[in-house]
Amino acid sequence: MAHPKRKWSKARTSRHRSIWKLSVPGFVECPQCHAKMLRRKVCKSCGYLDGKQVIAIGEEA
Ligand SMILES: [Zn+2]
Repeated sequence: MAHPKRKWSKARTSRHRSIWKLSVPGFVECPQCHAKMLRRKVCKSCGYLDGKQVIAIGEEA
């Protein structure tokens, strides 16, 4: 079986744990308004998806 060559140091383990779940998969920055949004979902703050406005959100207020 595949096996790691050496044990992770305590420092590396804690470093790794500290970043765990910080980079939630599926979250990206909207190219339009740079808000955090779900990947492949319409942006809730500007309504864009794939460079096109899909839903109208109070634009040009
Ligand atoms: Zn957006």
